[in-house]
Amino acid sequence: MKTIVLKFGGTSVGSLDRIKKVVQIILKYKKKNNRIIVVSSAMSGVTNDLIKKTKLISKNFDKAEYDVLVSSGEQIACALIAGRLNHVGQKARSWMSWQIPIFTDGPYTSSRVEKIIPKNLLNYLNSGGIPVVTGFQGINKFLRLTTTGRSGSDASAIMISKFLKADECIIYTDVEGIYTTDPRLHKKAKKINQIEYDEILEMASLGSKVMQPTSVQDAKLNNISIKVKSSFNNRPGTLITQSFKKKDFSNQIITGISSTKNDAKITIAGVRDKPGVAAHIFEPLSRNLINVDMVVQNISLDGKETDLTFTIKSEDVKKTEKIIRENKNISYRKLSFDKNLAKISIIGVGMITTPGITYRMFKALASKKINIMVISTSEIKISVLISSKLIKKAIAVLHKEFKLD
Ligand code: ASP
Ligand code: MG
Repeated sequence: MKTIVLKFGGTSVGSLDRIKKVVQIILKYKKKNNRIIVVSSAMSGVTNDLIKKTKLISKNFDKAEYDVLVSSGEQIACALIAGRLNHVGQKARSWMSWQIPIFTDGPYTSSRVEKIIPKNLLNYLNSGGIPVVTGFQGINKFLRLTTTGRSGSDASAIMISKFLKADECIIYTDVEGIYTTDPRLHKKAKKINQIEYDEILEMASLGSKVMQPTSVQDAKLNNISIKVKSSFNNRPGTLITQSFKKKDFSNQIITGISSTKNDAKITIAGVRDKPGVAAHIFEPLSRNLINVDMVVQNISLDGKETDLTFTIKSEDVKKTEKIIRENKNISYRKLSFDKNLAKISIIGVGMITTPGITYRMFKALASKKINIMVISTSEIKISVLISSKLIKKAIAVLHKEFKLD
């Protein structure tokens, strides 16, 4: 007998009809004699509506009350699912996080699941019941309700899998899995059968909104494999798991291509080349919560002056310009800004052991006359900054070059 965690996202439980469909999926697993734990997020749109209300009633809505309010969407969804399971003759009930309990740590609105006491859920499973657990919420050491950040119900399912020693964790969503690139930007995007945690973490942080990065981190740290599947059809999804490529040799070097748009580039030309300059530039930016992404400093030819280029989000350009102009700790000759840029990244653990990937990426982009402005790399990814007009073209040529088509 297997223990299986089935997690349903907002669109999967977005209407009463959808909830009936989800109950059919649950029954399929139950009939195969599995022990099922259901985790649900709120019906789609509900959390957003509640967040809107907090803003309308107060500009400074208390964060602890925010968590009480926005976590209520999950309570509604779980009661409806449990009620429908009862309707079709199943023993089932809803479990709020505090009834289990699920303990979290960290600030309101973005806490992380720390510990789950398995006893109550185990007793209920042993009695043949199907627990339907609220995702997204927990309680802290003061016994107050907390939430785990937007899309946090994935993390709930992963941590329940851990603490209940589940055999499988399946995340049902509205897409069929993880794709080699955004299907809206490239028609030949393909579903990936299996992907490693590190690759998905790079993809998530680089703009592929497949899963909340902290949830993937939780899965990685606890070695929980996750299956991502659609609740709208029965096709196989994507398995997110630990390193598998070393064993099963594959010629798939690049797993996926991500892109972000609305990037901007800032160049500070003629800054003094001496210790502390970069720190002086970035300290006030970090204090003002400006997220700096790629950074390049040219090698200075005379040892006196150098140029520093970095990227931020376009919406931060004005604020950044003001901060730099008011910065009395630095001197420079010229400040220039460039908006409407995009970052394209190729990702794959296969890169570590395969030479020549950088060259192939640059050559492919050059063949389409795509100019590269900034480059940054990590062990498993190469990112380039290009004009945002060229996103689709760049994805297409790279998708083909790395045999993802
Ligand atoms: N309902 C929450 C949200 O919309 C949590 C989730 O969907 O995972 O962010
Ligand atoms: Mg959601």
